[in-house]
Amino acid sequence: MAEKRNLKCERCGRDAYYMEKCDYCSRNVCRPCQKSSLTASKTERKVICRDCWGDTKKRKAFKSA
Ligand SMILES: [Zn+2]
Ligand SMILES: [Zn+2]
Repeated sequence: MAEKRNLKCERCGRDAYYMEKCDYCSRNVCRPCQKSSLTASKTERKVICRDCWGDTKKRKAFKSA
């Protein structure tokens, strides 16, 4: 029996087709749960979820990345 890969957002719990890991809480979050993402360099990409965006310290760290 083929196993269906179940991708669930660790923030909202919804099935998500595409997820990325938040760099500040290390949870895999779906697109709508990502507040913002940026490319710091060619190899580094930063993702912040909506929860971490609400945290002033994390938001500052994200903006200065
Ligand atoms: Zn989500
Ligand atoms: Zn987060």
